[in-house]
Amino acid sequence: MRNVVIIGSGPAGLTAAVYAARANLSPLLIEGWQSGGQLTTTTEVENYPGFAKGIMGPELMKEMRTQAERFGTEFLTGHVTAVALTPRPFTLTIDGEHTVQAKTLILATGASAIQIGLKNEARLTGHGVSTCATCDGFFFKGKELIVVGGGDSAMEEATFLTKFASKVSIVHRRDKLRASKIMQDRAVKNEKITFVWNSAVEDILGNDAVTGVRVKNLVTGKVTELPCAGIFVAIGHHPNTNLFSGQLAMDAKGYIRTTQGTATSVPGVFAAGDVQDSTYRQAVTAAGSGCMAAIDAERFLESGSHNL
Ligand code: NAP
Repeated sequence: MRNVVIIGSGPAGLTAAVYAARANLSPLLIEGWQSGGQLTTTTEVENYPGFAKGIMGPELMKEMRTQAERFGTEFLTGHVTAVALTPRPFTLTIDGEHTVQAKTLILATGASAIQIGLKNEARLTGHGVSTCATCDGFFFKGKELIVVGGGDSAMEEATFLTKFASKVSIVHRRDKLRASKIMQDRAVKNEKITFVWNSAVEDILGNDAVTGVRVKNLVTGKVTELPCAGIFVAIGHHPNTNLFSGQLAMDAKGYIRTTQGTATSVPGVFAAGDVQDSTYRQAVTAAGSGCMAAIDAERFLESGSHNL
């Protein structure tokens, strides 16, 4: 029986762990198979306060994990495969094998990259199709690449990929970018980056590895083939909430609804980070809500509500 179980090892989960551990709640954090969440697949983080010169995403997450461990957080590597939020205490099944019981839960399962949804996208994933430039960019030295999307992720991925690629084409479905001004400027000024506006990738070509993409201009209807060795899809994320569906109130996109801080529709269950935030989605806002969730869980336990 645990006081607090935290699911997720991104900034939200690890910050919740730091606070819960320092409140002597002996938290258990279930970290999945790859600890650290989305920031482990990003490059330099320039907007996390306290790092004037920036810090690499994986390094930041390593530091957060070490900090949570220092105060006594226990880590469990594995996936939560089932959750029962009734009756109390809550029961979690890990990797379909063993169970853990918890008086309070902090859900910090984050979000995952959205795919375009093409048949060949799934088939060629790992063979030229990627959602992580940091992970896979290195394999494309001197090659031509495509990045899909018009947000900060697409600009960041494209800019990073120019370290390796000979040319990066950003395919965007509109003629205006959603990305922040600073990220746009960086991409626009980069000589290796070109933009393919008002266009959608209709198909990804290649037998064993990507050789090109078929792109349709959404204004003229013209279809062209662009040769490339890789395509990086950066079109946003969806919340990782399937595990809780039917048990917690969620919005139309599947984000967990929170009220009064981080409280969910089930008393004693708190949600932090991208799993409940479709608006801000920043490392620092995730960390902030992780802190809130730990304080909310602590107050819930203090009030004895878990016994009701
Ligand atoms: P996003 O802001 O939601 O942008 C997604 C982009 O993909 C949009 O341009 C969208 O087009 C396009 N898109 C969506 N679905 C598509 C589809 N099915 N086919 C083709 N294109 C599609 O997502 P994001 O770029 O991942 O950023 C998420 C959040 O993280 C943002 O708040 C962002 O500021 C933040 N972020 C920050 C940094 C940084 O500061 N270093 C880096 C990365 C992300 P439309 O524009 O037409 O909707």
